[in-house]
Amino acid sequence: MSNPSTVSNPVPMLDVSRGNQPLREDFLAALASVIDSGRFLFGEEVARLERQLAQLHQVDHAVACANGSDALLLALMALDIGPGDEVIVPSFTFFATASCVARLGAKIVFVDIEPKTFNIDPDAVAAAITPRTRAIIPVHLFGQAAAIDRICQMADAKGIHVVEDAAQAVAAAYRSRPVGSWGLVGCLSFYPTKNMGGMGDGGMLLTRDAEFADRLRLFAGHGMRPRYYHQVVGINSRLDSFQAAVLEIKLKHLPSATVARQVHAARYRQLLEESGLTGKAITLPVQDPAAYHVWNQFTIRVPAAERDAVRTHLQQRGIGSEIYYPVPLHRQVCFESLGYEPGSLPHTERACSEVISLPMYAELTADEQVRVVEGLASYFRTAAHRAAA
Ligand SMILES: *Cc1c(COP(=O)(O)O)cnc(C)c1O
Repeated sequence: MSNPSTVSNPVPMLDVSRGNQPLREDFLAALASVIDSGRFLFGEEVARLERQLAQLHQVDHAVACANGSDALLLALMALDIGPGDEVIVPSFTFFATASCVARLGAKIVFVDIEPKTFNIDPDAVAAAITPRTRAIIPVHLFGQAAAIDRICQMADAKGIHVVEDAAQAVAAAYRSRPVGSWGLVGCLSFYPTKNMGGMGDGGMLLTRDAEFADRLRLFAGHGMRPRYYHQVVGINSRLDSFQAAVLEIKLKHLPSATVARQVHAARYRQLLEESGLTGKAITLPVQDPAAYHVWNQFTIRVPAAERDAVRTHLQQRGIGSEIYYPVPLHRQVCFESLGYEPGSLPHTERACSEVISLPMYAELTADEQVRVVEGLASYFRTAAHRAAA
């Protein structure tokens, strides 16, 4: 069949312009005001954004930085994590969750997920704790909080720090308490595909601890205090005023965008159930009743042997999809020396072979969702599927 560019009604995996175009004049005015201020770094826009995100996540301190990966790295640097230390992380996540550990010379300890929620399994965390464990990095994957209450209880009892990777979970909560306010520190990303996507890179650290916030700021600014006197070897990681000006506008629209995502998730669920495919060909994402889910991704499972064919079928109809994530981190080439064999984290490996994320953004229309589900349903009526089944 046709290539996606010739399909009349494509449903892209993501279309950032739909959200940005209606706000174009607001963005231009905010950017003009930064130009006029001449404060391109450390502008008032950055300080305001920090205050607003601290408030949203119910913490006293927020420290802006260059991106979500730096936020994770800075959190571990400020904890003095290094050689001889172990840090427990999930393997079913984006690379940055684990690379920060390796960058500091500490040992990555990968653990498995709960297959229903795709989030780190607290029992697996418990089993992986050793006297060398210094930190745990739970990821609130796809916008759904991990079982952060149990993880924090366990960690507190042993004097282990919790660094929340909330890159995909701005405004999410667990038991009505925002992510990023449970552990010592939470990390946000403003990468364009995230729920509060900027026009470039950006990140933010959240913490209730004033002293730790001060340390994070120190490490983010070359460890320099006062000017040209360096207390520690930090990095240069800043959010610029232009990006903060854009993000302030994005933040104003975040509550309605989050609700839109939740409505879309409910509609996907209903449409997929009505299609008769769920429970057989398609497994729906499972929502933890304690989680306030912000749906960064709507991720289903299909039989591993058919996933490529499903995606090709969708693509031929102009329907975007994505695999988050095709290769578990414990099986990445760069982590070969850690010695994780195939089968060592079975739930993670199975998820990597079965997941498909469907188009999900605030501006997605009901009609587009119908087309996505009809695309899936028509695949499962094909000869290719019947042969595979
Ligand atoms: C996006 C992401 C990051 C990194 O954020 P960047 O801003 O792209 O550096 C870290 N962890 C997870 C789980 C992410 O999805």
